[in-house]
Amino acid sequence: SVADELIEAIRTIPDYPKPGILFRDITTLLGNARAFRRAVDALVQPWAGSKVEQIAGIEARGFILGGAVAHQLSAGFVPIRKKGKLPHETVRIAYSLEYGLDEMEMHKDAIRPGDRVIVVDDLIATGGTAEAACKLLRGQGAEIVAACFIVDLPDLGGRAKLEALGVPVRTLVAFP
Ligand code: 5GP
Repeated sequence: SVADELIEAIRTIPDYPKPGILFRDITTLLGNARAFRRAVDALVQPWAGSKVEQIAGIEARGFILGGAVAHQLSAGFVPIRKKGKLPHETVRIAYSLEYGLDEMEMHKDAIRPGDRVIVVDDLIATGGTAEAACKLLRGQGAEIVAACFIVDLPDLGGRAKLEALGVPVRTLVAFP
């Protein structure tokens, strides 16, 4: 199945970035031409042929996948970045990480009110990152069609967090 093929293509790195963490490394999937294509095709499949104005990709791996998804759906691409990286006027949101706070931002003029937007990242864990992105986008008038990820870590509750906000979630593989 596609899920089995994607799981095979993802590399697991123990104790990265800290002892006790099993990091799911998708660079091996990106470097596998067939797996990369299958992942993008599977991510967009529910919206093939429907009108989506913008794909919002979360820095940094969400840029790689989001660019491919945008091309496939003939949508625009909006980068959601760590603070201080975007050159024009931005809107910003703070969100909590495991230790402390961080901030992400997007250009103020990137979204038109009513734009249908799909949020893309490589992986959802606690959902804090994607939740902040959805709030930032909604604050600019976006209608969030869905949030898509290759990998779900279901034990960390991210899907439930987004669904509680009314954001449909699509994931392709899960690591319990
Ligand atoms: P969350 O905010 O859902 O807890 O964490 C998700 C964010 O952290 C995503 O931007 C994702 O790229 C990154 N992340 C957390 N754990 C992993 C992991 O094991 N592998 C990868 N590739 N990214 C991770």
